[in-house]
Amino acid sequence: MQFLELNELDKYKDYPALAFMNFQPPVKSIIIDIKNQNPLMSLSQLIGLGIKIKKAFIEKGVIALLIDEFAADGFVALESKFILTESFDLKLQKTILRFHQWLIWDETHLYCNKCAGILKQVQAKIEKQCRECAQSFFPTIAPAVMVLIERGNQILMARSPHFR
Ligand SMILES: [Zn+2]
Repeated sequence: MQFLELNELDKYKDYPALAFMNFQPPVKSIIIDIKNQNPLMSLSQLIGLGIKIKKAFIEKGVIALLIDEFAADGFVALESKFILTESFDLKLQKTILRFHQWLIWDETHLYCNKCAGILKQVQAKIEKQCRECAQSFFPTIAPAVMVLIERGNQILMARSPHFR
């Protein structure tokens, strides 16, 4: 995942793209083509809808845009959870989830937690840097591990004593 400069978007016109809007932050909606129910469009098609782009990201050859209000015939903004539950395209689901996660990180990390300076995005990276003290910030990775312990046809069930 990388931030993209808006003035560089011309280079990516033929790339598949998704357009996210703030619905009820942090919830996002995504523009879909009503005819084919597809949120993935070429970047040039999305730009052709007259959208106002606030931010752009790229990951694995897919562009995500954060856009302002939107209205165009034949297209509608659907809450992203509806697209996730209605689509059986696993790759698309993963892409939407990752972009959703990055967009939320981007909008919730605005100030330096060392000196309270304003953070700026570092182009071509997923990094933010403080304008005052140059401290770098990256999204937190939260790895998780699941283990299944079996014995014959039994499985071990465990829980934290703090869990209610
Ligand atoms: Zn700082």
